[in-house]
Amino acid sequence: MFLKSKGMERISGSTDGFPYSRPVIESKMRLSLRLVVALAALSMLFQFCLSTPLYQVRRFKKTSNEEQTQNYWKRIADEELNRAIRMKHNTNVAKNVILFLGDGMSIPTITAGRIYKGQQFSHSGEEGWLNFEQFPHVGLVKTYNVNKQVSDSASTATAYLGGVKTNYKTLGVDASAIYQKCHTVTEDNKVYSIVKWAQDAGKKTGVVTSTRITHATPAGTYAHVADRDWECDGNLPEGCDSIKDIARQLVEDEPGSLINVLMGGGYQSLNSDAIGTEDDPLDDLYGCTRLDGRNLTEDWVNAKKNSGVKYAFVRNKTQLLTVDTNNVDYLLGIFANGHLQYEHEKRDKNLNVPTLANMTKAALEILGKGPEGYFLLVEGGRIDHAHHDTMAHRALDELVAMDDAIGVAMQMTDEKNTLIVVTADHAHTMSFSGYPQRGQEIIGLAGLDEEGVGYTTLMYANGPGYNNTRPNITAEDTRDWEYTQLATVPRDSETHGGDDVAIYARGPMAHLFHGLHEQNYIPFMMAYTSCIGDYKDHCHGGAEKAVPALTLILLAISTWMLS
Ligand SMILES: [Zn+2]
Repeated sequence: MFLKSKGMERISGSTDGFPYSRPVIESKMRLSLRLVVALAALSMLFQFCLSTPLYQVRRFKKTSNEEQTQNYWKRIADEELNRAIRMKHNTNVAKNVILFLGDGMSIPTITAGRIYKGQQFSHSGEEGWLNFEQFPHVGLVKTYNVNKQVSDSASTATAYLGGVKTNYKTLGVDASAIYQKCHTVTEDNKVYSIVKWAQDAGKKTGVVTSTRITHATPAGTYAHVADRDWECDGNLPEGCDSIKDIARQLVEDEPGSLINVLMGGGYQSLNSDAIGTEDDPLDDLYGCTRLDGRNLTEDWVNAKKNSGVKYAFVRNKTQLLTVDTNNVDYLLGIFANGHLQYEHEKRDKNLNVPTLANMTKAALEILGKGPEGYFLLVEGGRIDHAHHDTMAHRALDELVAMDDAIGVAMQMTDEKNTLIVVTADHAHTMSFSGYPQRGQEIIGLAGLDEEGVGYTTLMYANGPGYNNTRPNITAEDTRDWEYTQLATVPRDSETHGGDDVAIYARGPMAHLFHGLHEQNYIPFMMAYTSCIGDYKDHCHGGAEKAVPALTLILLAISTWMLS
C-alpha cells in the first residue's frame, strides 16, 4: 500500500525523522592506507592551489549516482504525486494543539537548516527533509503589524496567539495601546491568548521556550504590556503603577498562574536573589534585574502548595529528567538567569541544562494525561538571537534543535487527535546565494568573486558582520560558532526581515492552512479545530455532528408519540 511507502514511514518514524541513517563507515574502513594517503595528498594539493583551507571547500557526497538517471526523478515525482492524490482531509476535532514557533525562522533559514541537518549525517543535504517539512499542509503567513512593515516578536505573538495585529513591541494589547505609554493599557484593549481560551474550555496548557520565560514569545500567552521589555520591575518606567511587570503577571494573574507547564530561562526576571555563575552569568545587557526583593518562583511554589495541587519546581536537566511526570500536574522549570545557553554550548560544555527536546518530552508527559486535552507552545527562541549576531551556523543549529523537539512531539502524539503547527513570527535578512556545488558545506564558502575574493553561501543584508573594506575571508574559519557572516549595512544587531514566513501543519483540520494567511488567522484556526474560544459551541466537530443526531432522535420520539 502506498501509504506505507518509504516517504510516509518517515512521518511517523524515528525521533530524528530524517531520511538518512547514520553513515556507514565500515566500507571506508576497508580503504587501503595507500588510498587514504593518496586522497589526503590530493586534498592538500587542491587546497594549496586555491589557497583555501580545506574546511571551506568541504563537500558532502551524494549517496549514489541515481540522480543522473531519468527514472530516479520520475520515481520521486510519482511518489509525491501519489501522496498528493491520496491525501485525505482529517476533519476530526483536535483534542490537543501544539504550536512550535521558530523565532526568526525565515524560509532561507529552513532551507539552509535542512541542508545543515543532512550534512550532520555526512549527506549532501539538499534532498533531505526536516521533520516538520514532512507535514502534509503548508501555507504562507504575512507578518506585518499595525504600524511596521517589518515586525517584532511581541506584536507578532499578539497576532498568532491572540488573533489581533498590534503595534511594534507592544504585547497582549490591541493597537489602541501606544508603545511605552503605560497608562494606555486598559482592560478594554487587552488581548487574551489561546492559552486563556484553552483554559476556559477546561484544557491543560503549557509554555516551553529556550529564551527567558518572560521574553516576548512566551509572554504573548499571558501578559499585557505597552513595552515587551517590561519583563521585571527594574525595567518598568517611573510612574507606571497601573500595570504589573511581565514576571508578576505570569505568577499572580490568570492565565499565567494557571499554566500547567512553564519551562525556560529568566530566573533573574523572576527573582531578586539571582546570582550569576561562570556558565550562567547574569544578563546585564538585555536581561531584566528584579529590584523589589520579590522571589516569584517561591511565590509560585507557595501558591501551588496552598492550593493542594501536585507540582514540581526544577532548576536543571538532572532535576527535570527525574520528575515523576505521572505525579505532577504543575511544573515550573527555570534553567538559566537569562536565556538558555545555545544548544551547542549545552553540548560542548556538558551543561546541566535541558535541550528543547528534553523539555518538550516532559511537557507532553504532563499535559497528555487525562481526557481534557491541551494547548502547548514550544518556542525555538534562539534562532533569532543567532541571526541578530549574524552567526548563521548557530542559527541553523538552533533550528535543528527545534526540529528534534518536533520529532519528539510527532512520536508522542497521534495525528488523529493532535494538531501540530510549525511556523515563525517573522523573517530575518539572511540570504542563501552564490552557486555552491551540490553538497558544499552550507556554512562554508559559496565561491570566489570576480576579484578572487571568497564569500560565504549565507550572508546578511545588515548587522555586525559589516566591514567597510572587503575582507579576504578565505583564511577564516566560517565553521566557528561565533563566525559572523558578511553583512552589507552596518548595524550592532541585524534586523528582522519583512518577507512572509511559512506555516506547516499536520493533524485535525490541518488543511485549513492552505494558502496565504494573515498572521492573526492562526489562533482562530487552532481554536476552531479544537472547539475552544469563539468556536466552542459551533465548531465543525462535536457541535455540527451532534445536531443531526439530536434531530434524528427528536424526530424518532415525536413519530413514536404521534403514532
Ligand atoms: Zn529578533
